[in-house]
Amino acid sequence: MHEESYVSTQVIGKANLFKKAKLILSRLDIELTERCNNSCIHCCINLPFDDADAKKRELATEEIKKILKEAVSLGCLSARFTGGDPLLREDFQELYLFARRLGLKVMIFTNAVLITPDLAALFTLIPPLEKIEVTVYGMKKSSYEAVTRVAGSYEAAWQGINLLLENKISFVVKGALLPQNKKEVEELEAWAAANVPWLDGNPLAYSMFFDLRCRRDDAVKNRLIESLRLSPAEGLEVLSRRKEDYLKLMKEFCSKFMRTPGDKLFSCGAGCGGCVDAYGVFQPCMMLRHPDCVYDLKKGSLKDALENFFPKLRQRNAQNPEYLKRCARCFLHGLCEQCPAKSWMEHGTLDTPVEYLCRVAHEQARFLGLIGKTENSWEVNGWKDRINGFVEGSLYKRR
Ligand code: SF4
Ligand code: SF4
Repeated sequence: MHEESYVSTQVIGKANLFKKAKLILSRLDIELTERCNNSCIHCCINLPFDDADAKKRELATEEIKKILKEAVSLGCLSARFTGGDPLLREDFQELYLFARRLGLKVMIFTNAVLITPDLAALFTLIPPLEKIEVTVYGMKKSSYEAVTRVAGSYEAAWQGINLLLENKISFVVKGALLPQNKKEVEELEAWAAANVPWLDGNPLAYSMFFDLRCRRDDAVKNRLIESLRLSPAEGLEVLSRRKEDYLKLMKEFCSKFMRTPGDKLFSCGAGCGGCVDAYGVFQPCMMLRHPDCVYDLKKGSLKDALENFFPKLRQRNAQNPEYLKRCARCFLHGLCEQCPAKSWMEHGTLDTPVEYLCRVAHEQARFLGLIGKTENSWEVNGWKDRINGFVEGSLYKRR
């Protein structure tokens, strides 16, 4: 194979085709930068757009290309470019084109501020093949910029969104429910329903149970984030605003995902794929940056991490007695966002129950009739009967 070409041709006997192709990675997340042109009040990651030290430490263009190439050799079909705001990187277009030429679909998470006519033309000519995801922080300049704390970001973001619409580039919008914008939910939903066909009639996704700083780097910011979180009752009100749809969804969900996890730390897919951070550190998921869980790609490879490092990590058991007493025996585990990453962000450990998430899960479970007013989920013995009762309809009607 020529050194610079994107595609290699190999002669493989038909019968051996699938034996030879050992596919171990279907999608890769890459955080192209932690820097962002916004400074959102609830953000768990952002560094200032002009943070020279962060910029200097970021992976070079060629290093990212090498990672993308290796990902493809491992079977990867799709890359998610995230940040900060990934469009802030000066080489964004080059990296995007490189990924697309490799045959990868590219998903982009952005605030849309940096979507220019040039970029819209590129996405029109060479579509990402995955919907771009744009978070909208407000329908009015006052609310939008109260969240982003950057003058002019409202106009820039809406100009970016309008460019996507005018060029028919498929994207979806998401919301972040904050005190500054929560009165505008109906307006956002009505606008999205009327203007964004790629939502396919699906309800908008919102973040509202905000994560603390995923690098545990700012205690003051963490107190601010905590103050912005919806109470469990407010969160439930949002989730169940279309009650029949919510109940239908929860019945499907509960029939598939409710179980007690036992003492294994990981019951999710973390480490089966992963996220490369802006500096070349491979994490089992976007938020999990505990030093025990991360792998330096500058000293190794995606393959080694996926075959040797992450599988060992996934074998780890929880040690914290409080976790073993509660979460390990809790049938709401599927409903609750408690996981090693959340424990890391809140407590700096992998296995400490997060009280806020516990209250959020209990609020929902009480509404669904899965637990009584004063019951704790981990003390329920006949939980399978309760799930069956809820799924079949008898439990909720009895309440
Ligand atoms: S736009 Fe996204 S990454 Fe940037 S500050 Fe806001 S929440 Fe953080
Ligand atoms: S609901 Fe509470 S006990 Fe159950 S998994 Fe979540 S944090 Fe743990």
